[in-house]
Amino acid sequence: TDLAHIRNFSIVAHIDHGKSTLADRLIQATNTVPDRDMKEQLLDAMDIERERGITIKANTVRIEYDALDGQSYVLNLIDTPGHVDFAYEVSRSMRAVEGSLLVVDSTQGVEAQTLANVYQAIDADHEIVPVFNKIDLPASDISRVAEQVEDVIGIDASGAIAVSAKTGEGIREVLEAIVHRLPAPTGDADAPLKAMLVDSWYDPYLGVVVLVRVMDGKMKKNDRVMFMQNGTVHQIDKIGVFRPKMQDVKELGPGEIGFITASIKQVRDTKVGDTITHEKKGCEKPLPGFNPSIPVVFCGLFPVDSAEFEDLRDAIEKLALNDASFSYEMETSAALGFGFRCGFLGLLHLEVVRDRLEREYDIELITTAPSVVYNIYMKDGTMQELHNPADMPDLTYVDHVEEPRIKATIMVPDEFLGDVLKLCQDRRGIQLDLTYAGSRAMVVYDLPLNEVVFDFYDRLKSVTKGYASFDYSIEGYRQDNLVKMQILVNDEPVDALSMMVHRDRAEMRGRAMCEKLKDLIPRHMFKIPIQAAIGGKVIARETLSALRKDVTAKCYGGDATRKKKLLEKQKAGKKKMRQFGKVEIPQEAFISALKMD
Ligand code: GDP
Ligand code: MG
Repeated sequence: TDLAHIRNFSIVAHIDHGKSTLADRLIQATNTVPDRDMKEQLLDAMDIERERGITIKANTVRIEYDALDGQSYVLNLIDTPGHVDFAYEVSRSMRAVEGSLLVVDSTQGVEAQTLANVYQAIDADHEIVPVFNKIDLPASDISRVAEQVEDVIGIDASGAIAVSAKTGEGIREVLEAIVHRLPAPTGDADAPLKAMLVDSWYDPYLGVVVLVRVMDGKMKKNDRVMFMQNGTVHQIDKIGVFRPKMQDVKELGPGEIGFITASIKQVRDTKVGDTITHEKKGCEKPLPGFNPSIPVVFCGLFPVDSAEFEDLRDAIEKLALNDASFSYEMETSAALGFGFRCGFLGLLHLEVVRDRLEREYDIELITTAPSVVYNIYMKDGTMQELHNPADMPDLTYVDHVEEPRIKATIMVPDEFLGDVLKLCQDRRGIQLDLTYAGSRAMVVYDLPLNEVVFDFYDRLKSVTKGYASFDYSIEGYRQDNLVKMQILVNDEPVDALSMMVHRDRAEMRGRAMCEKLKDLIPRHMFKIPIQAAIGGKVIARETLSALRKDVTAKCYGGDATRKKKLLEKQKAGKKKMRQFGKVEIPQEAFISALKMD
C-alpha cells in the first residue's frame, strides 16, 4: 500500500470510557470480521483482561476502509494497554502511530487516565481527534465534556465527534476523521530497513510473535534481521498482519504495522522499543529513546502448601516466558518456606500475575507485603539496591537511604476533596498543584511510592465512594529517614513481616501490626510477646496471654458430636499453620497482617 493510503492510530481513554467497544464498532463497520465471528471486545483476548475490563498487552488490527471520497484506505489500530503500570509500553506503541482518537465518556468527563494517556499521545506528536462516547445515555453532556477537554487537557474540542459505540451512531464520522484528519505515515521504501519492535508475546504454536512498525525499508519472509539492542540475528519465518486473526503477507513496507516470527525462543530476547534492521546493509542508527520498563514493586510469592513449590516454579517460568517485564528469583523465608521474590511494573501488574498463577495454574499463594526498591548508600561509599526489606544491611554500616517518589494526579468531585487531601497528607505527600474543572478538582501530589503500594488505591476509592481517578508517574529518588522495622514473635524475628517505614510513622505502624497479630495468632500454652523493633530497639509491644482452658471446655456437657466437630476443625486449621520457633502461626495471619487498614 502506498503511504498516502495508510493511517495508523491508537485509541486513548480512561478505563470503561468505551475504547474496546469503539474498536469493535470500527472493525464491524468495515466488515473486517464476518458478522458470525463478531463477538464483544474482540481485541481483549486474555481472560483476565475481559474480566477486569483492562487491556494488558497492545493489540492490533488492520482495517480496510472504503472512504466517502471513493478511495480505499488501510487503517491500523493499535490498542494500547490502559493502565499506568504499562506506561512504557503505551509510550512505545504511541510512537508506532501518527494519531489518536481521544475517547471520553460524555456522561463522566475527563479522568486521570484520560490525562495520562493523552499526554503520551501529545508527547508522541499525535494528531488528536476527540470522540465523545455514550451519547445514547440520558446523562450524556457533550458541551460540558468539550469544555473540560479544552480547559483541562488544552486541546481544541470544536471538531469532536459525538458517538455511541453501543448503537453505532457516529461511527462513519469517526472513520472519515481518521482518513481526513490524521496524517499519513512517512518513510522511505528504498532506505535500509528500520522497524520498531512494538510488542512481543509467546504463542504456543509459533513461538515468539513480534509486532513491528516499519519506518523505512521493507521486510519479507526469509530475510535475516538483526535486533539492534543485543545484536542477535534471526531469519523471518512468517510475516503478516492482524485482521485481527493472523494473515500472511508478502512484505511489510514503510508505514505498515504487522508481525513477524523468526524462531525466537524467549520473549526476553525481544525488547519493546528495540530497532530491527537487516543483518546486511542495515541502518546505522537505531530509533531514539530505547528505555525498557523495569520492575518497581517487589513482593514474595510463596505456595500455601509447601509441596507445591515445584509447581509454582514451573508456573512462574512459563509466565515469565510471556512477560519480559516480570522478574523473579528464589527466596527462602523462615516463616513461609521456599518461594520467589518477584518484581513488577506496579500493583496492577502484581495482581494480574498473582491472579494468573492462582487461576491458570491452580496454586494457592501467600503474597508478602509489596515493597519498592530502595537505594541504600553505605558508609564505605557504595550503593546497593534493596528489593527485600529482610535484606536491609545493619544500620551501623548505612549512611543514608533513598526511596522512589511519584507524581500523582487525582481527579475528584469537590465534595470529597477534603478527604483526598487528608489521605495524601497522611501518606507523607507534598501538594504540588490544585485546580478546578467545573465541579471536579484536580490535585497533584508528590508522594513516596512506598506509601502508595500498600493500599492507596483502596483507601482513595473508599473515601471518595469510587468517584476519584488516579494516575502516577515515577519521578526519582529522594533521601528520607527510612528504617527497617522487624516484627518479633516470641522473640524471634518473622522475616516475612519485615518492612521499610518512615521513622516518624514507625511507632504507629508497629503498634497497629502488633495489635493485629495479637488477634490473629492463636493462643498457646505459654505467654507470647509480640514486638515491633528497629535495629534491636523495641518500639511497640503486645502480649498474647497463655491458653488455660481446653478448647472444648466451652461446649457444655455431653454434646459429643459438637466436641468432635470442634476438634476436627482445629485439626484442619492446623494443616495451614506455619511452625515458627515454638509458635504456630496460621497462614491467614500473615495475609491479614500484611493488609494495612
Ligand atoms: P474500555 O475500558 O475503555 O475498553 O471500555 P469498554 O469498551 O469495555 O466499555 C465499558 C462499558 O461501557 C461496557 O459495559 C460497554 O458496554 C459500555 N459502553 C461502551 N460504549 C458505550 C456507549 O456508547 N453507550 C453505552 N450505553 N454504553 C457503552
Ligand atoms: Mg477495554
